[in-house]
Amino acid sequence: VVAYRADIDAVVTNEPDPAPFRSETPGVRHICGHDVHTAVALGVAEAFTAVRDEIPGTLVLLFQPAEESGVDLFALQAGTIGSEATGALAMIREGALDRPRPAAIFAVHTAPLATGQVGAVPGIALAGADRVVVRLSGAGDRQKAAEVIRARIASLHTLPPREQVFASGATQFGAFVETGLVRSAAEGEAWVLAAYVRASTEEGYAKARAAIQDVVRNHGVADVEAKLDYADRIAPDVRNDAALVQAAAEPLRSVLGPDGALIGGGAVPYFGEDFAFYQQRVPGVLFWLGVSRAERGIIGVPHAPFYQADDDAIPLGARAMSRVLLQHLESHAR
Ligand SMILES: [Zn+2]
Repeated sequence: VVAYRADIDAVVTNEPDPAPFRSETPGVRHICGHDVHTAVALGVAEAFTAVRDEIPGTLVLLFQPAEESGVDLFALQAGTIGSEATGALAMIREGALDRPRPAAIFAVHTAPLATGQVGAVPGIALAGADRVVVRLSGAGDRQKAAEVIRARIASLHTLPPREQVFASGATQFGAFVETGLVRSAAEGEAWVLAAYVRASTEEGYAKARAAIQDVVRNHGVADVEAKLDYADRIAPDVRNDAALVQAAAEPLRSVLGPDGALIGGGAVPYFGEDFAFYQQRVPGVLFWLGVSRAERGIIGVPHAPFYQADDDAIPLGARAMSRVLLQHLESHAR
């Protein structure tokens, strides 16, 4: 049994849409390419249905809502991120990986590669998130302490410029302080500061954690006690199974040609993806599906206001994924 997952949700944005077609829901638009993911999965479904009697196994197709509702400050404060907010966990809780239980799971995410290219990173491909909550108490200037801590945490980035989307495997991390100081409903006027940390390696997470502990311990404002609540990997890393990546190379090349399959690369530490929750339970791969076509002005950087996806990437993606899935089933058939 093998599973294929497509996420279906859009993004809240009011940026003008450069595409010749429009979202019919004001304030919501597909700038993360989940409409492409859904179309690719439907293509896979069509291909498998056409030859269903010859398939040596079972394909489970998962169409998942609410991928985008992962990391936000309110979830961070409430401590619900990673446990309540994401569609992946809701699907898993409702039995998406039971009866039948898949031996592997695959998916694509659109990426600013060219149409005709599919990338596969062995190991960490997207960062998860550590949660940082700092509570300040005491008779001293708590607001000042919060501002000091916030500024120091925000300056801890070791990330290269954000345009360098496909980072190397080098140790990088960033502490993302979403809105800084917060007066929490639960804690009244207490000064509470929330942030999340992403890193491209285990070493990066450890360094970020140590640096934040140091900042909180040594804020230097008199009569203010700062209490740090640090939770590791409340959202897991997207961690691709290296053997499955290697096994996918040949089927990808058979569809995309020798230059179309980009096997390798490292983690992108700016974004997360709740596909990671499936990968915690079942080995899997999240592939990068190239959707950019520079000569038509189509550049598919997810969540960018100018995001567009080349429609030609859809049948290519469906063929590439069908081949990967079929090859997996054939090589594991008894
Ligand atoms: Zn997405």
